Amino acid sequence: MEVIDIQNLNHYFGQGTLKKQVLFQINLKITEGEIVILTGPSGSGKTTLLSLIGGLRSVQEGSLQHFEKELRGASEEQLVQTRRQIGYIFQAHNLLPFLTARQNVQMSIELQEHLGGRETEERAALILEKVGLGHRIDYYPDSLSGGQKQRVAIARALAGNPPLVLADEPTAALDSKTGRDVVNLMQRLAKEQRRTIVLVTHDNRILDIADRIVHMEDGRLCGC
Ligand code: ADP
Ligand code: MG
Repeated sequence: MEVIDIQNLNHYFGQGTLKKQVLFQINLKITEGEIVILTGPSGSGKTTLLSLIGGLRSVQEGSLQHFEKELRGASEEQLVQTRRQIGYIFQAHNLLPFLTARQNVQMSIELQEHLGGRETEERAALILEKVGLGHRIDYYPDSLSGGQKQRVAIARALAGNPPLVLADEPTAALDSKTGRDVVNLMQRLAKEQRRTIVLVTHDNRILDIADRIVHMEDGRLCGC
């Protein structure tokens, strides 16, 4: 099944004489279990495209389907439903500083599912163990390294079992070894659990984890 099916998608920022087109005739299909890496220079439109795929912006022109549901013209309620099926990982980990690693992950589970407190705690601990942080469960973000924080962010994104994971420059703030460990982890979890991943990166050193690389330039996808 297609997880994402984009046809003739255009996007604009601004209005009137300041209106500027940033995406041009995007066509892209992504199937279940695929890891797709989106590359391209800064300003080429990668984050804009990812945020449209993530239901974080409204589709203006063209078609964007998620599991065969059209997002163009979707209501806020439908967008919320869509977002529940997606795990997001950003460049900055965006962890809440006043919550421990476990509580950060728990919160994301609580937003998605109605489990008992105990069950939620256990699920959070289990996923933190999976990302190699079993020994840091009760630490606050401030006392974790950059790579550990990003691993908590991955655990948080995966905790609700989303079929689709979107990551925007997840290794940008990490040194190369740590970045490598983080993407290896994402790849392993994706393959184990048949998740689909769309990952935006500048980092040429991690391209090998992709099943497919899509290049973007000046708002257009090339060579695909
Ligand atoms: P990338 O992620 O590839 O660096 P972006 O999607 O962030 O590219 O940006 C694509 C283009 O859209 C750039 O020219 C950028 O300046 C512009 N842009 C991005 N976000 C906004 C916004 N909220 N308002 C106006 N212009 C924007
Ligand atoms: Mg960007």
